[in-house]
Amino acid sequence: MSKETVNLSLANPRGFCAGVDRAILIVEKALEKYGAPIYVHHEVVHNKYVINNLKKKGAIFVDSIKDIPKTSHVIFSAHGVSKAIKKEAQDFNLIAIDATCPLVTKVHGEVNKLSEQEHTIIMIGHKGHPEVEGTMGQINKNSSNSQIHLVESVRDVKKLNLLDSNKLSYVSQTTLSMDDTKKIIDSLKNKYPLISGPKNDDICYATQNRQEAVKKMLGKHDLIFVIGSKNSSNSNRLAEIAKEKKIDAILIDNMSDFKESWLKNKKNIGVTAGASAPELLVQELITEIKKTKDILISEIKGIEETIIFKLPKI
Ligand code: SF4
Repeated sequence: MSKETVNLSLANPRGFCAGVDRAILIVEKALEKYGAPIYVHHEVVHNKYVINNLKKKGAIFVDSIKDIPKTSHVIFSAHGVSKAIKKEAQDFNLIAIDATCPLVTKVHGEVNKLSEQEHTIIMIGHKGHPEVEGTMGQINKNSSNSQIHLVESVRDVKKLNLLDSNKLSYVSQTTLSMDDTKKIIDSLKNKYPLISGPKNDDICYATQNRQEAVKKMLGKHDLIFVIGSKNSSNSNRLAEIAKEKKIDAILIDNMSDFKESWLKNKKNIGVTAGASAPELLVQELITEIKKTKDILISEIKGIEETIIFKLPKI
């Protein structure tokens, strides 16, 4: 029996960003230079495939500095860490290599500068995400200079009880929804006219470009696959953009989860990948679809990314 033909378009840009590329390379180079095991504080990037691959090469991922033998090498993940974690690593005589994405480090710099200027800071982000913990952790909880408060939604802004002042500022997580963040910033500006912040927000180029690329697929597709892990913030945001427009969107991490039934009555399928998902998984998904469908593949034109971040000294 002949197979049904479906159109499959690939979003651009998709997949690895410069910060993820750099973080993975840092772990690989450290393994090459110092040999296994190399300890990594938290998942270096939020992708199961990448983590399992690095585990096979000898990386050990830990959630606590206390789990690392003294004098070992430790790599801080692309999401960045708090000052307390850096201090703890020092106290344990660990040799730290920092894989924090330079765009997250930039936000840490903003927070530190604002704290020196005794500002009260509002962080827009998702509670419990390692990047948010690292950024908020630039300020000591008992600091008398500065305070930092987390808001996740417009509702949280309504609950804030702060004085409007020109010493009130906001920063944001780098991987948020551009649209939701704009709404939160607008409500902050409305409630606190004197508040200041970065020109737009701190959402990074890779998150913005991938969100714009998914928006281009809306209206033309009846199913959008987003390759990414469940704990990947930027991948989840990509799926949300499609779902908000009532388009079926499936976040898929591992092709063993693939269900043929997802393709039923779908003629135009879009595929993208979060900033921490390798292209290899996109190709694996295409192979899965080809098992039951003939496909006409096209690439959707998008912004060409040329950013590369320098590696730290390893
Ligand atoms: S998603 Fe953005 S902030 Fe995160 S690692 Fe990539 S470039 Fe850096």
